[in-house]
Amino acid sequence: MTVTQREFAVASNHHYKTLTLADPHKLIDGRAVAEKVYAELRGEIALLKASGTTPGLAVVLVGDDPASRAYVRSKDKMCRELELHSVKLELPANTTQDDLLGQVEELNRDPAIHGILVQSPPPKQIDEGVIIRALDPAKDVDGFHPINIAKLALGDLTGFVPCTPLGCLRLLRESGVAISGAHVVVLGRSMIVGKPLALLLMQKGNDATVTVVHSRTRNLAAITRTADVIIAAIGQPGFVRTEHVREGAVVIDVGINRVDDAAAPRGYRLVGDVAFEEVAPKTAAITPVPGGVGPMTIAMLMANTVKAARLSSSTSGASTVG
Ligand code: NDP
Repeated sequence: MTVTQREFAVASNHHYKTLTLADPHKLIDGRAVAEKVYAELRGEIALLKASGTTPGLAVVLVGDDPASRAYVRSKDKMCRELELHSVKLELPANTTQDDLLGQVEELNRDPAIHGILVQSPPPKQIDEGVIIRALDPAKDVDGFHPINIAKLALGDLTGFVPCTPLGCLRLLRESGVAISGAHVVVLGRSMIVGKPLALLLMQKGNDATVTVVHSRTRNLAAITRTADVIIAAIGQPGFVRTEHVREGAVVIDVGINRVDDAAAPRGYRLVGDVAFEEVAPKTAAITPVPGGVGPMTIAMLMANTVKAARLSSSTSGASTVG
């Protein structure tokens, strides 16, 4: 089933409703692009294994937040599907910062582990910034360590770029959206999405003209209406309306927000930061939620893990797992 033929199920697992886009050519299918990334990675993983390196990812979860647990499960499952070495560490909610730092140190030293991810948010007794700084930057596949943020700002390709921004860029590329010279307006300035995304888009080679707007921005709609590409990452359900978008713009919706829906099996549904149904007809291309940026984030995590393994095997000789 291709995007150009199908009625696109906007709801994951078709569980609440199905939207039909009048022109399905417009839909940017994150699941399909993620599959393409996985196909490429499988080739690279096979080559690494043949030379004695099995890429390894450790995901650390502290506490029992259900959403975090689900994210960790899906990352572990994807590692298994790609036949990577996967370690899932589940620590109790009362884990101390020192205990967690001890675990991170151990993983930093483990030659079978190339990527480490500490699932966010940790419980309140743990300072996330301290944990991120304790990670070996060469294993920081989330790209949040100051060294990796600096490398992104410098355009140093040996660093790791946070997964969601990387996923947005890949979606744009795969959809044939020319961003060189284009005006891209990013909504949101978080360290996970907005800020690194702006740095990535303006890098030489990507060459976008970037504007970042946030909660203090005046005349936000007047700014977004000048955008060739809008990327929304603000965590505000359905915030971007037709008045924010000029005819023919491309819209990437990073938002994943739960809204109550008594008709949905779980009592809620997931919506983006964009009012999809009203905005889509005005766009040249748009991502749905779910099925847009979400699948790309995990694909880019796998890509960063494979990159970490490649960089480590080229600098320190092969490490073997299992
Ligand atoms: P944060 O809460 O960390 O940051 C939100 C940003 O949006 C802030 O910069 C804030 O501005 C800005 N903002 C909030 N409200 C408004 C408003 N009314 N107008 C303009 N700007 C506003 O969120 P995240 O970046 O972590 O996440 C954003 C969204 O993306 C969430 O829905 C999240 O679930 C989703 N997400 C999705 C991922 C995926 O894989 N698809 C991955 C990561 C996040 P200010 O700085 O001024 O407070």
